[in-house]
Amino acid sequence: MKNGRQLQVLVAGGAGFLGSHLCERLIDEGAHVVCLDNMQTGKHENLSRLQRSDEFEFVKADIVEPLPARITGRAFDRIYNLACAASPPLYQADPEHTMLTSVLGTQRLLRQAEATGARFLISSTSEVYGDPESHPQAESYWGHVNCTGPRACYDEGKRAAEALCFDYDRLKRAEVRVARIFNTYGPRLSADDGRVVSNVVHQALTDEDITVFGDGSQTRSFCYVDDMVDGLVRLMEHDGPQPGPVNIGNPVERTIIELVDLVLTLTGSSSEVVHRPLPVDDPRRRRPDIAKAERVLGWRPATSLEQGLRATIAWFEADLDRAGRPAGEEVRLSA
Ligand code: UDP
Repeated sequence: MKNGRQLQVLVAGGAGFLGSHLCERLIDEGAHVVCLDNMQTGKHENLSRLQRSDEFEFVKADIVEPLPARITGRAFDRIYNLACAASPPLYQADPEHTMLTSVLGTQRLLRQAEATGARFLISSTSEVYGDPESHPQAESYWGHVNCTGPRACYDEGKRAAEALCFDYDRLKRAEVRVARIFNTYGPRLSADDGRVVSNVVHQALTDEDITVFGDGSQTRSFCYVDDMVDGLVRLMEHDGPQPGPVNIGNPVERTIIELVDLVLTLTGSSSEVVHRPLPVDDPRRRRPDIAKAERVLGWRPATSLEQGLRATIAWFEADLDRAGRPAGEEVRLSA
């Protein structure tokens, strides 16, 4: 709701990990939400709570293709673009599609925003900073991306999408918000997603070897999904002048080995750690400077890594339990 009026919101990528949490938050706040997803990495299970609401609609479509009439034929107040595989192995599986999702898909959604006067938010990424030479990363840093490497389809796609967004904003074709999302984790990450938190938690709970790429001294800063969603909504609803790109992430930086040790302690797992080659262009370190988010949005994350991992581990445990049950029996979780 905004000024007593129900917001009509389109969430592209709404069946994904982050998107489904965002859709729930928007519905809880009284919005009507249309979720658009090609189900490449989205999952129907992520929508199970949402589909019980009359204020939720699901449309299966790929934003690389022309948008369906069910979308183009209506007006939205807000359009969130969260549509893109975000895990390196998954976005590298079809790099052309990844690039086009960010570039062409964003253009299609921006045109929809322009046509209906919607405010538009894109989930950009800390990957626009590449393997950063400046630490922590502030929005003013232009980045260090290898435009010919295997991560380029994602990184350069998002950089191009940001450029497109700011051109629409400059030309007053649409009002845009650009969130640079840093590593995010929580319930509903898929066990087969390939990212470090889901891999390590799943491996620990199933007593498989924990795969650490390289020596594990590389760093990331992990943000719990509820904090992330809160940051995204605040940025979208920020009514002031164009704030430029805004980092949304948790500034507490950990090495991958520290993350693994914490997961092993919290799960009591006896999994062994095995080392695997470091992927090409894997950033050495990453930590957001969130001074801008604090100043402009009054936002900072509230969940510690330990709290967030406890909730994530509880969800993965229930998910493993669910996988062993007959279909249709779903465990509800408060995590
Ligand atoms: N990583 C790891 N083991 C895994 C998956 C990832 O050690 O099973 C490492 C990866 O090389 C990177 C970090 O964990 O240094 C974060 O990887 P992730 O794929 O989660 O995200 P991104 O590299 O996009 O930040």
